[in-house]
Amino acid sequence: MLEGISTSVDDLENKKTWQAVQSAFSSETELISNIITDNAHWDDAVAELYGEISEAWINQTWGLSTNDVNYDAAYIIDANGNTLAGYRGGKTVEDTVTTYYGSTITKLVSELPQDNFTFKAVSTLIRTQDGLAFVAVAPVLPYTEGLVIPATKPVVLVFSRNISADQLARISKQYVVDRLALGPPDVRQDANYQLRDRWGNSLATATWEPQHLGYAARKAYFWSSINSILALLAAMLPVLLYLGHILAKSKQRELEASEAARRDNLSALPNRLYLNELLEDRLKSPKPGELVLLFVDLDGFKAVNDAYNHYTGDKLIVQISIGFRKLVTADVELARLGGDEFAMVLEGPTALPRARQIAVDILHYLKAPFDLDGRIASVGASIGIALLESQCVEPSEFMRQADIAMYHAKSNGRGRFVEFDHSMDAKRVENLAIADELQNILAQKLLEVAYQPLVDAKTFRVVGVEALARWPKNHARKVTPDRFIAVAEEHGLIDDLAALVLRRACEDAKPWSDLRLSVNISPIQINNCKLVSDIARIAAESAFPLDRLELEFTERILIQDAARTRNVIQQLHDHGIKIALDDFGTGYASVGYLRDYNFDVVKLDRSLVKRVATDVASMRIVQGTVLIALGLSANVVAEGIECEEEVQLMRLAGCNVMQGYYFGRPQSPQEIEAMIDSQPRQLSHGTV
Ligand code: C2E
Ligand code: CA
Ligand code: CA
Repeated sequence: MLEGISTSVDDLENKKTWQAVQSAFSSETELISNIITDNAHWDDAVAELYGEISEAWINQTWGLSTNDVNYDAAYIIDANGNTLAGYRGGKTVEDTVTTYYGSTITKLVSELPQDNFTFKAVSTLIRTQDGLAFVAVAPVLPYTEGLVIPATKPVVLVFSRNISADQLARISKQYVVDRLALGPPDVRQDANYQLRDRWGNSLATATWEPQHLGYAARKAYFWSSINSILALLAAMLPVLLYLGHILAKSKQRELEASEAARRDNLSALPNRLYLNELLEDRLKSPKPGELVLLFVDLDGFKAVNDAYNHYTGDKLIVQISIGFRKLVTADVELARLGGDEFAMVLEGPTALPRARQIAVDILHYLKAPFDLDGRIASVGASIGIALLESQCVEPSEFMRQADIAMYHAKSNGRGRFVEFDHSMDAKRVENLAIADELQNILAQKLLEVAYQPLVDAKTFRVVGVEALARWPKNHARKVTPDRFIAVAEEHGLIDDLAALVLRRACEDAKPWSDLRLSVNISPIQINNCKLVSDIARIAAESAFPLDRLELEFTERILIQDAARTRNVIQQLHDHGIKIALDDFGTGYASVGYLRDYNFDVVKLDRSLVKRVATDVASMRIVQGTVLIALGLSANVVAEGIECEEEVQLMRLAGCNVMQGYYFGRPQSPQEIEAMIDSQPRQLSHGTV
């Protein structure tokens, strides 16, 4: 009997270990697939890899990283299967993918979608010249919906990570398998412990230190005297202890596996699955008013990822996870939902006030920049809070409410927290209807454009106009530009809207002698890899001289990928287009940015202009800004001038251009023409 027990204990133990080995290898295969997704499903990569290929960028982004932990080989293959670039261990290599990986890599690539828009990454175990490795392939495609690549077949990115002795030791430790080792594949078809590729071919045999706990127990039995019952009992004791130990150990392993599935690898925090289960559990016996879900979404995290690299981004996530954990008491459940999203669950009668305090603490905590091995990164957060209101709320509904509140925090300017209320649902439904209508308006080119004059601060002569999009007048619904621009940004319509406004504005403004034309550009458009060429093309098609064109970017652009933004501004400058920083004084921007980004114009926001009349400090900000801007030969426009007093103050501060209802509201092209004709007589105060 003992024999039987000990054998089955060994079997059980080995089976569990085998499961651990199997899950280790499948997790690692999935991991490299996630890493390549991050790198290939990426607008920046699209911009650098199609058209003129930037080798320096590729080397900087992927080549040097092959010296890092996530992958140690990277290749780029063109649509015909030719190797465009290869890197291993941080250095360029001259071989091709097939030399390094054999023909299996071609087979793997053939599993990718055959079109030029579907993103998918596939990964497998593979044999390379250096031994067994995890490999992943993925097409390089834009992340932003609606963007397309200028090719019929995408370029393919290949990453792999060799399973070196070090890696094996790490896997051993991480997945609790003693002395994991790899040997040649076993030729027997039914051989156990075979590591196979995605097509079922055996690549290696995994071995580990067998525990033989049952065998050890049996030995312990024979070591004691057989004849004496006492001795037998004495012998049974270690057996029982061993059995207990083994059961505990396999239970432990089961527990560990289950825990691993509910834990986020990077931050070691509980993950989305855990949160789902937690909410399901709490909502079984719901206590309205005593359960709060808080969603945190980092602002500007993508910029950090883009400006540095994904590993710096990962480090930031880890630091922030630790920071959040310290920020909250132990009874607050904290989870990472993936990407830059976190969630917290609070319970009890004071859950809501505590959640509000946590939100304030988080915003405060994120104010200080992070030091990531010498790289400085700043992020903020948008936070949504939902309070359980009734007995019958599904977990998914509860999460949706927190998500909507968080989204509201984002669209109301970020860096804040918002509590869910039902009017937000109504707004969301209305936004969907607006998006629908806007799509039609754009398709039929019905969007209107109004022009607001910009005047010289000394002579009051009109020197330019700002084009402002207008919802068609004859539509039943009236929608303000702020609202439909936000909807366009959210629903992927902003590029079409911008193209329409630019084309209309170029056509309208072309005959207005030498007036400058300002057009607003949404920060979202920076992600469009064709932005610069589209603008140049549209202006050329309307024969509008580019040196009369000025593009206005709001401050929001400054929290985006800085390198990319600078690059776009540089390209626009190369075309002779001027760039304005819009809404200065409402948020992030300081005068330092003027030089940093090479802006030609800074537009002081109306809120700042209004404050100057009552507040000396604001006057100083304006005067300082004007001095620095003029020193950099940038123009300063005071926006939203409504009265004589503001005119005088802004002149005093040194602004050289003015815009506002005092000089003229946004108006139709005909009204602008009449205004030009009447110059330099009194300006009209036409309305739109
Ligand atoms: P903005 O670029 O700051 O445009 C100036 C806004 O201030 C306009 O609002 C204008 O009507 C308003 N304004 C001008 N003078 C005065 C004044 O003296 N007093 C007051 N209180 N307001 C004044 P509007 O037309 O409602 O546009 C709002 C925002 O929508 C714009 O702010 C701009 O950010 C955005 N927007 C408008 N058209 C476009 C577009 O074609 N593309 C993009 N991306 N954004 C646009
Ligand atoms: Ca503007
Ligand atoms: Ca503005």
